[in-house]
Amino acid sequence: MAYRNRYSDAELALETLKLELERHLRKVVCPVHGEHPKRVTVYGTSVYDMSFKVDGCCDELADAMLESIGQANSIV
Ligand SMILES: [Zn+2]
Repeated sequence: MAYRNRYSDAELALETLKLELERHLRKVVCPVHGEHPKRVTVYGTSVYDMSFKVDGCCDELADAMLESIGQANSIV
């Protein structure tokens, strides 16, 4: 089957990482309100330049999400 990917390997890896991050971040629960983020969007032009936008209840949730990324990175 000749099927050409829309993405190069590097781009595909980046997109996969973004999805993984979003999936991971959506599971984080606010330590104050016990709520999940309403929306999470991950941005980045490379695996070394990633950031995310959170639509959630408060800053504590954003902090908890940042913390969870730190933990995730140490696992990876
Ligand atoms: Zn909260």
